Order: sequence, then structure tokens, then C-alpha cells
Amino acid sequence: MDPEDFRRYGHQVIDWIADYLSEVESRPVLSQASPGDIASSLPASPPAHGEPFENMMADLETVVMPGITHWQSPNWFSYFPSNSSGPSILADLVSSGLGVQGMLWSTSPACTEMETRMLDWMAELLGLGDRFRSTGSGGGVIQDTASSAAVCVMIAARDRATGGQATRKGVSSCSQQLTAYTSSQAHSSIEKAAGIIGMGRDSLRLIDVDDSFAMKPDALREAIKADIAAGCTPFLVSATTGTTASGAMDPLEDLLEICREFNIWLHVDAAMFGTAACCEEFRWIQAGCQEADSYTVNPHKWMLVNFDCSCLWVADRGALINSLSILPDYLRNQATDAGHVIDYRDWQIPLGRRFRALKLWFVLRHYGVEGIRAMVREHVAMVQELASLIEAEPNLQLAAPCPLSLVCFSHVDGDERTRQIMEQANASGNLSLSHATLGDRFVIRFCVGQWRTQRSHVEAAWKLLKSLSA
Ligand code: PLP
Repeated sequence: MDPEDFRRYGHQVIDWIADYLSEVESRPVLSQASPGDIASSLPASPPAHGEPFENMMADLETVVMPGITHWQSPNWFSYFPSNSSGPSILADLVSSGLGVQGMLWSTSPACTEMETRMLDWMAELLGLGDRFRSTGSGGGVIQDTASSAAVCVMIAARDRATGGQATRKGVSSCSQQLTAYTSSQAHSSIEKAAGIIGMGRDSLRLIDVDDSFAMKPDALREAIKADIAAGCTPFLVSATTGTTASGAMDPLEDLLEICREFNIWLHVDAAMFGTAACCEEFRWIQAGCQEADSYTVNPHKWMLVNFDCSCLWVADRGALINSLSILPDYLRNQATDAGHVIDYRDWQIPLGRRFRALKLWFVLRHYGVEGIRAMVREHVAMVQELASLIEAEPNLQLAAPCPLSLVCFSHVDGDERTRQIMEQANASGNLSLSHATLGDRFVIRFCVGQWRTQRSHVEAAWKLLKSLSA
């Protein structure tokens, strides 16, 4: 494909995306495909010879679209959002066009230096405090996902507790059993990370939660004491600012006190709701996070940046780099040897990395801080109104506190009825909802976070849910 063909087809692709996004609302939100439908419309073997570009464009409609679930629909209320926005898509395109692989500062200084500056911008936007900024001993990095961030953080925390022995000689060489702590409501990525780093999933203690589904500090302290008494080495607590199931906020200040008492690394997982901290009035959700050891938020959820873009900050970048740095001879270069630059390969699991900071740069400049705040406030207001309507409905009940843009509710007749309402609503094609189990109850989760969602969409969803609940 020469540059002129690329230009022509590129215009077609942008037109196709613009058309898709302008009519996404009219499509049934959930894909109607059955397992195997899409695979069966693809040939079993690759083509022997090249085809005209037009063929691929035509097949997008017939082969791909039937299997697409429309995350960009304004009627997307399930899971958490995965926003894509114009400036972010275009920045991603620029990143693809440049084709930069930014493993080292020297392999594209702009990729590294823009990332450092964007993470400092983000730290300011979210009120994370100076410890996480690159100007001190900390700093931020863009990871693919919060799950990868959790693995990196756990490795660094484990090495801090074992003097690096776990990484150098293996976990089995550590005389004491390593233990970590998170709440029973934490995201499954924390448990997965515990398995990946070799400490064993069973050595991650799932601490009990209170009535608002937040971690109980007393239960945490007891678990740590019991483990120490049994000869274990507690090395990490992972707190959640906005759990996946219900948006519960762990009490960071209390957890921080415990972590200080026992010299344990405190990680804060604010994957979805950390974005709310851009508004002063919501910053209470993470009071204390400024003193934590690490913090993650996913701009690829609520903050208008296309997947993937997960920001991780550490208060002590040396701890992360010591655990993850390996410098084979073929990567040596003057800038690295002089020690004056950041090489982000040392802050993550893979070696290679895309130029993801461009997405943050375009989004922050296009919308500005005030634009992002306005969206967050609007989403929270919509859900607060919806929660009031649910509360006033005799057949429905709120299942958890609802401080931000996620509301969980159930039908008074019990789990089967609640499930039926969700399935009927999803089958209508007009919206998408997901569920969670809270306590032992099946609940419907309704999250507003798609930037295209207007009040009219939430009102229509409520009308449907109300009629299904009658
Ligand atoms: N942490 C929380 C609280 C989440 O809600 C999620 C996903 O929804 C994750 C972590 C995992 O995110 P990722 O897909 O970036 O790994």
C-alpha cells in the first residue's frame, strides 16, 4: 500500500468509523451472535494472494458487525464503560502511524518524556500529591491494564519485603511464607496477580467487609497479626477505591495506619472511580491515597481514553525498577548508561511499548480538565437521580450505597425475579446491564460512564426497568 492508496483508504476508514459512531445508538447494544457464528464466516486458512482493500471494508459489515457488542452505545450501562473518543481514536492512529516502540528513552525520547509529563499532569488532576510525581522519588507509567499494574506492584512490594530474594532466588527460597491482603470485594485481578507472582493465591487473604462492602480495618489488623504469629511475612495490602461489584470505598486512612504499623506496602486500586477525583467534591473517596505506596486508575474506563491506558504511580520508583530492570548488552546505550533518562521497559512486564501517552495528551488538551469534570459530574448526577427513583419504587430496593455513578438494586421478590428483569431488559436490545452478587443477593448493576449517555437515555432505561419490575 503506497502513501496515496493509504490516504484514500484512510479517508474511507475514518468515514466508516464516523458513520458507525453517529448511528451506534440505533443498534441493539448486545451482539446477537451465537458461539461460533463469526468463526464460521471466516475461511479456515489464510488467503494465498492479496485482495483489494475494498473487500475487507465490505466484510466489516457482514463478518464483524454481527459479532460486535456496542460499548460505545449511549445505552451502555453494564460492567464499567470502555470509552472511545474522537481525540483518543485519532491519537491512537497517529501512534500507529509513527509505529514507535518506546522500550527505551533512546528508541523515541518523545514517547518517554511525554508519558512522564502526562502522568505528572494526571497526578495533579487527581490530587495524588507530590510523592507520586516524577520530580520526587516517585513517578507514573502507563500500563496496558490495572491487572498488569497489580502484578508489577506485587513484585516490587515482595522484593521490598524480602530484600530482593524472591525475584533473585525464587519465592520458595524465602524462609517465611509471604502473605498479602485485599477485601473479599476486590477485583479478581489481585488474586490473579498473587498466583502469577508465585506466592500462591491462597496466601492472599480476602478480608471481610462491612455493610457498605468496604474492607473492615479491624479484620485486616487481626489477619495480619495472626499471620505474623504463624511466622508469615505480610508484604502488601491492596485497597480498592470503588469496587467492581458495587463501587465500595475501602477506608484508606485506616488501612494506611495499619500498613505503617506493620511496614506493609499499600496499593490503591482506583481503576474506575479514581477518575471522579478530578472533581474536588468527590476527592474524599481517596483521602489518604497520597501516602500510599502505589495507585492505579484506568483512563480507558471513564476518562475518554481508548483502551488500553492504565496509569500506575509508585511513591518509590527505585523499588519498581530494582525488581523489573534487566539490561542485556544489546539494549545498552549512552543515555541509559549515563542514568539521566527513564527507560519505561523497567517499569512494566513486557519489553516493548506503544506510544500511549499521545492518547492522554490529545484527550486532556481537547476536553481540558473542566470538560472531563463536567462529564463526571453529569454522570454522577444522573445516577443519583436514578437511585432516588429506585428507592421510591416499592418493588425495588437499593442493594448498596451509591456515592457516584454506579447503582446496584434488586427486586423485593428475590434473586430469580431480579435476574429475570435484567435478562428481559438486555433481550430488548435497548440497553445493556450486568449483575453482581452482594452478600448472597443477585443484584443488577447500572453504571453511567459512557460519554454519549444523556439524561434521555437513562430516563428511557428507567421506564423499561420500572415496567419490567411491576
Ligand atoms: N480493578 C477494578 C476495581 C476493576 O473494576 C477492574 C475492571 O473492571 C480492574 C481492576 C481490572 O481492570 P483491567 O481490565 O485494566 O485489568
